[in-house]
Amino acid sequence: MSARRPALDVAVAGGGMVGAACALALARRGFAVALVEACEPAPWLAAEPEDLRVIALAPSSARLLDELGVWHAIEAARVSPYRWMRVWDAASGAEIAFDAAREGRAQLGWIVENKLVARTLWDALDAAGVRRVCPAQILSFARREDRATLDLADGSALSAALLVIADGANSRLRGQADIHVRGRDYRQRAVVAHVSTERAHRSTAWQRFTRAGPIALLPLSSGRSSIVWSLPEARAREVLALDDDGFCAAAGLASDFRLGRITATTPRASFPLQLQLAKTYATDRCVLLGDAAHAVHPLAGQGANLGLRDVAELAAVLGEAHAAGRDFTAPHVLHRYARRRRAATTVDARAFDALERVFAWQAPGWAMARGLGMRAVDGFGPLKRALAAHAEGTA
Ligand SMILES: Cc1cc2nc3c(=O)[nH]c(=O)nc-3n(C[C@H](O)[C@H](O)[C@H](O)COP(=O)(O)OP(=O)(O)OC[C@H]3O[C@@H](n4cnc5c(N)ncnc54)[C@H](O)[C@@H]3O)c2cc1C
Repeated sequence: MSARRPALDVAVAGGGMVGAACALALARRGFAVALVEACEPAPWLAAEPEDLRVIALAPSSARLLDELGVWHAIEAARVSPYRWMRVWDAASGAEIAFDAAREGRAQLGWIVENKLVARTLWDALDAAGVRRVCPAQILSFARREDRATLDLADGSALSAALLVIADGANSRLRGQADIHVRGRDYRQRAVVAHVSTERAHRSTAWQRFTRAGPIALLPLSSGRSSIVWSLPEARAREVLALDDDGFCAAAGLASDFRLGRITATTPRASFPLQLQLAKTYATDRCVLLGDAAHAVHPLAGQGANLGLRDVAELAAVLGEAHAAGRDFTAPHVLHRYARRRRAATTVDARAFDALERVFAWQAPGWAMARGLGMRAVDGFGPLKRALAAHAEGTA
């Protein structure tokens, strides 16, 4: 046993949206926390056009951000509530429509810039007493009986009673913790751009499933829409190489001109897509959360929402032990968090993966069966409500 306990209760490795929210949530529950991040999030400026990376934020995430005291600032800065969602199948023409009013809500969720959420969380860290260690590249970590120690690229080290691994889908620390992942490489890329359209988006999140992959048009407060277009790698490369007119024409066609012609576009970016599930979310003195624990296909717009639900669960489980004066790093405490979140995220990740397969499968007669299934879901209120509640995190 070492002579002294480490001064820090928790070191959070990775200050993306999920890691920063976790640091804040734990600090608010009285833990001594450090957040270690390679690169500080860029400032968010209202005068700049919307950042290319946006996410559909579920009500459960807004609730957590509200509890952390940052939602008001995010909402006041720039968010785009969406009230309707229309999902349809190119092959069968079948559609499922969600309407917030039918769920008794003002909106189904909000389209928000990643940068705005990350920066607002980051700006709240000092006041909550979180020690920011940034810029700091984590090279490795080691565990001793009473602590985990991070080795940083500048030669320094940082010890804490618990290490929270939130360094994203390509997590280096996950491997060092001996946690394996399983899943599959979709061999797809999500092409993203913001576009202007002939017709207004009407605060609706649109998603069309085509033979090549889903294309979503998410409503932005500027009146533009954010495209997230998942495509096989070769086709994604072709689409990225198109000039603006070519891209607008191709995206218009893929979205069946639901919003009329696409008349202008920003430059494009793309992201590789994979399904990745860590085999456990807790091991000796470490827990995993966010994309480090689970990376999912963006077709359901849930990756960050799942990560923020990890944060809420971890803060509740550790906070309860801490408040009762028990050892919050005890294996049974860490495994309680791990069991609950791994079960929930596995169900979600497998469901998104199944959806990807259902829409990709081209066997004869399958499109008709899929269309019948979609129409049945659309016509069956209780099931549709359950699906909406699940996506909103209110189930
Ligand atoms: C095209 C696309 C669309 C999406 N749409 C949605 C959506 O609509 N809704 C939704 O909920 N989710 C969506 N997602 C998923 C969402 O973006 C991710 O789930 C989320 O950003 C993951 O956050 P994170 O904090 O876990 O990881 P990251 O954002 O990857 O953060 C990890 C952090 O760790 C830091 N780091 C890594 N290694 C080190 C190191 N060695 N030392 C120090 N720091 C390190 C990095 O700098 C980074 O800041 C989408 C994803 C994609 C690709």
